[in-house]
Amino acid sequence: MDKASHTGAAAPGGLPALVDTHCHLADERLRADAAALIARADAAGVRVLVSVGAIGSIQTDRDTVAIAERHQNVYAVVGVHPHNAADCDQRRLDGIRGLARSKKVVAIGETGMDLHYQHSTRDAQEQSLRRHLRLARELSLPVVIHCRKAEPIVAQIVREEGLPPAGGAIHCFTGSTPEAMRFVELGFYISFSGIVTFKNAGTLRDTACLIPEDRLLVETDAPYLAPEPYRGRPNEPAYVALTLGAIAKLRNAQPGALAARIMANAAALFGFSVPHP
Ligand SMILES: [Zn+2]
Ligand SMILES: [Zn+2]
Repeated sequence: MDKASHTGAAAPGGLPALVDTHCHLADERLRADAAALIARADAAGVRVLVSVGAIGSIQTDRDTVAIAERHQNVYAVVGVHPHNAADCDQRRLDGIRGLARSKKVVAIGETGMDLHYQHSTRDAQEQSLRRHLRLARELSLPVVIHCRKAEPIVAQIVREEGLPPAGGAIHCFTGSTPEAMRFVELGFYISFSGIVTFKNAGTLRDTACLIPEDRLLVETDAPYLAPEPYRGRPNEPAYVALTLGAIAKLRNAQPGALAARIMANAAALFGFSVPHP
């Protein structure tokens, strides 16, 4: 980490203020420790956390909103994960719409398609994605998309439905460089997880270099996908500093300046104000 950022809020110790744009604080592995994890993140300079519900039942979304309401620097994203797309019926959507009345809810998701695991059928995932895109438009919120081995079909559905005017992010991007550029052209931000720190992530590292700086986001996806040197261990928001550092190195960028840019990108997408030093 570089010593100071002249372009953005600085955290204690001169670290640049960082944002984890995608973590799962209501996950059963993190929920009980959420307050401690948020404090550890803050100590590491991670000043804003965007926590996603979506996995499992609507109780995960409720817990996610409750955590965000208890912590000033935590925001919530509510929706139905592609793995649970079969549960995305009218009742669940009404529940999400209700939760989205909270001022701490800043996006709808994570929705999308996962053709690697296919825990829900492809049809159910496609319908759920379409419903989320329409709901995000209705609520004037951005959409957070999970896309695994499904980049062409997700891009096609977004083209058919239209990207909600508030925009969106492709979280934990793992596709090819041309696919990333197609999403950028559609208006998305591209979010990179700890996978870019893995030595065997060659093409993804190239992609992380080529994404325009004003479309770049970083995330942990905690408790999944811990970056090096914690690979294989439980992940937590504090570690987003490692992913930011890796991307800055790959791009030959000053880490403080890149952190400030990514904070500004996240603030623009999710509509929160950049924290003051
Ligand atoms: Zn995901
Ligand atoms: Zn996630």
